[in-house]
Amino acid sequence: MSVRWGLIGASTIAKQFMINAIRAQADGEVAVVMSSNAERAETYARENSIPAAVSTVDALLNSDIDAVYISTTNELHLEQGLAAIKAGKHVLCEKPLALTSADARRLVAAAKAAGIVFGTNHHLRNAGAHRAMREAVAAGRIGKPIAARVFHSVYLPENLQGWRVTRPEAGGGVVLDITVHDADTLRFVLADDPVEISAFTQSTGMAGSGLEDGAMCIWRFKSGIIAQSHEGFTTKFAGTGFEVHGSEGSLIATNVMTQKPVGTVLLRTADGEEELNFDREDLYTRSVRQFHAAIRGEGQPAATGEDGIWSLAAAEAALQSARSGKAVKIDPQLGSLA
Ligand code: NDP
Repeated sequence: MSVRWGLIGASTIAKQFMINAIRAQADGEVAVVMSSNAERAETYARENSIPAAVSTVDALLNSDIDAVYISTTNELHLEQGLAAIKAGKHVLCEKPLALTSADARRLVAAAKAAGIVFGTNHHLRNAGAHRAMREAVAAGRIGKPIAARVFHSVYLPENLQGWRVTRPEAGGGVVLDITVHDADTLRFVLADDPVEISAFTQSTGMAGSGLEDGAMCIWRFKSGIIAQSHEGFTTKFAGTGFEVHGSEGSLIATNVMTQKPVGTVLLRTADGEEELNFDREDLYTRSVRQFHAAIRGEGQPAATGEDGIWSLAAAEAALQSARSGKAVKIDPQLGSLA
């Protein structure tokens, strides 16, 4: 039996990655797309060979679909997610799940009560590179992990320099856009949870309306690991990377904070340097495959709703820290605590 998907949001990410990822499944079908603008919905459906187009969430939820993928602007995820859950549809929601971790918890609680599958589309934990790093850490190949460094400052392409840099009410800003991914990837690779974060943010000219377009964060994890991360929209030539340093070795990954299955992971120990092999499957295809399996009752989505609450609680704490000038504790049950 196939999984019939409804797309909530005629978005760039769906067009660039998720429609293909659904169609890459033997049992995946994109049945209908919803845009708030009927004409845009029609055009998007035609351009992406989607059989039906609608302009309201109700119409989409009344279609013959099993699951929805929500990729609208961030302030809409909560209401649209709750409506989909109420209609009994499985939900794969883009990050951040909502604008606050309290609202993300509402979504995840509603999904649990309804017994539907709910996932957060954190793509990076589907990357072969990050899975290879997680396995190497878990296998003790770097000894006891001590510290991590994430380099995730990019240049926001011109076609995406819209709501992310102009609309605070839509959940714009680099922290809700990229720090959430770093929170999830750090948790995944280190198999540890952050307990405290301290952040500085900046606005270098691309972002307006009080939004930040650069951030540097310092994290403390439960086990005592400390980490630093750099997120940005305005650095054209920085490159990305992820490093974990342990008592017996270091993992140095280059060009891995990206949407594509690219990059390298180097393990450096007393024995010398070894490049780790990892699979190069499309990140989003793997995410949808695992979501389909979860619908069949096999395992969980690659990133669950709880993972989405964690990443948003961390981002929220970073924003609070940047505003207050103080380190902020992270508690996904309670939100961030200054
Ligand atoms: P877009 O700006 O492309 O789309 C967001 C919404 O903006 C759409 O739902 C659409 O509204 C509206 N829109 C898009 N293009 C136009 C246009 N030309 N004219 C008028 N309105 C338009 O956003 P992204 O695809 O970049 O991001 C969407 C979500 O996905 C966000 O939550 C983001 O955080 C997340 N994301 C996640 C990524 C990941 O790898 N996990 C990567 C990129 C984004 P409507 O549907 O009503 O027409």
